[in-house]
Amino acid sequence: MTKPDAPTLPAAGTTEEVAVKNRLVKSVMTAVDGVAYSTDPWTNWGGNVASNPERTFHPKTLNDLQAIIREANARNKKIRCAGSGHSWSTTASTNDYLVDVKGMNRIHTPVASEEGWTVTIEMGVLVSELDNALRQNNPPLSLPSNVVPDCHGTSISARTMSDKITEMKIVNAMGELVTYSETKDPEAFSAACLNLGLLGIIYTATLKVEVMNTRLRVMDSYPTLKSVLHGADAGLKLKAMILKNDSTQFLYWPFKRFGDEQYNDNIWLKQWERTTEPADNLAGFADRPPMVDNPFFASFHVGERIMEVPDAIHFPTGDGVTTVVDAGVAFKADADFKNAIEAFNDLIERNYRYSTGGPFLLDTVLEMRFIKASSKMMSPAYDQDPDAIYCMLNVMAASGTPGFDEYSTKAVADWVQRFNAKPHWPRLWEAVPDVYPYLRREYGDRLVRFNRIRKEQDPKDMFVNRTFEKLVADL
Ligand SMILES: Cc1cc2nc3c(=O)[nH]c(=O)nc-3n(C[C@H](O)[C@H](O)[C@H](O)COP(=O)(O)OP(=O)(O)OC[C@H]3O[C@@H](n4cnc5c(N)ncnc54)[C@H](O)[C@@H]3O)c2cc1C
Repeated sequence: MTKPDAPTLPAAGTTEEVAVKNRLVKSVMTAVDGVAYSTDPWTNWGGNVASNPERTFHPKTLNDLQAIIREANARNKKIRCAGSGHSWSTTASTNDYLVDVKGMNRIHTPVASEEGWTVTIEMGVLVSELDNALRQNNPPLSLPSNVVPDCHGTSISARTMSDKITEMKIVNAMGELVTYSETKDPEAFSAACLNLGLLGIIYTATLKVEVMNTRLRVMDSYPTLKSVLHGADAGLKLKAMILKNDSTQFLYWPFKRFGDEQYNDNIWLKQWERTTEPADNLAGFADRPPMVDNPFFASFHVGERIMEVPDAIHFPTGDGVTTVVDAGVAFKADADFKNAIEAFNDLIERNYRYSTGGPFLLDTVLEMRFIKASSKMMSPAYDQDPDAIYCMLNVMAASGTPGFDEYSTKAVADWVQRFNAKPHWPRLWEAVPDVYPYLRREYGDRLVRFNRIRKEQDPKDMFVNRTFEKLVADL
């Protein structure tokens, strides 16, 4: 998303440079107790986090997970896991043992019960693989209007994915397979559904899924900022839109045209509504010329179409090459949604100054969506009121965009201060000044309760890396 003539090679000595070098190194596989491991350096998808695990294990079975834990206990090593490395915080990072769970990708046959359908998956399953498997079920099933397991989505009817879990199986630091469910122990279940990798290696999760008997009407528009975000009643108009739709998402980029500093006074607005009407034939929508001059959003077109739920939710963005970095938070929307309007308007102005403030024009993306509160104790959208609506704000730029860390850190610090926002764990937040005391204060009693459960499963802090040390220390 940076201007084409901006420097594309990372500066020497930066994390991005280490990331590029790491992608070029590939070591030989060895095995311990039948579990393959390599000694390759590790880099997250965004290229902003790199580490040098002593061993990266590639398990395939539950026995493999237990063997890794035996080995870690015998050698006094810490363990973190990584899936696709799609997080931008250092949450998956370790120089001890990394467990690459991508080979644990079994999807069990979905099961129907009186409460509805569920599916049990291992933790290396990709969303696209799950979508495909669910579609092939009879009847066809889908994830609710949401995005990725362990994530928040856009839907105010569906809540977060953590709230869709009915059972978790996690291998703890003693190598025991522990099953968590609401009926067995609601407190431990709440901790397990959003556990930050701190209770052990997750073996499987069982998720509620839905029969695909409704579709989504996808309504894309590109209105002016003024018509959507300005005026005394902008908050109430926004609230009405959010409550009417199944899902709503705003995407904004600072320039009218790519690489041209003219201020963009339009905003991309995506709205999804449930419908029982049949899906449109999407062939008629393919190969249309881009409508907006931004390579990241070349697939965007104003208009309406009815799509099956997974097709509607997982819309394509990006140029297939550029990776991005992202900072984001959740905060509770006011009764009149004024805080969401204020936050987004401020962000647009600040973003324009940042994007035009250096020797290069910097293409960035701002995003706002809304979701119902989560009941899970470690969720940034946790609320005792199940009907509270949370605003999720994100700022993104291409990996390596100069000054983005400083800019996005200031944005998150501002949201924390003004809106009592909680950082979204996988996004950038660790550089925010005094963030750990803030999180400890805000999560308060819930963090203490979470830590009690964590200590039972991991008495010697095997799964605590530097990201979480300061969060759980001396509780
Ligand atoms: C392009 C893009 C779009 C995104 N969109 C969204 C979005 O819409 N909504 C949203 O909420 N997030 C979004 N994210 C963030 C991302 O989806 C989440 O961070 C998700 O958790 C990443 O999954 P992963 O498999 O890559 O996990 P990783 O980043 O590899 O790991 C995430 C955490 O889980 C731990 N972990 C992984 N597997 C296990 C296991 N088996 N046992 C124990 N711990 C484990 C890791 O140690 C780490 O702490 C997006 C990210 C990208 C790159």
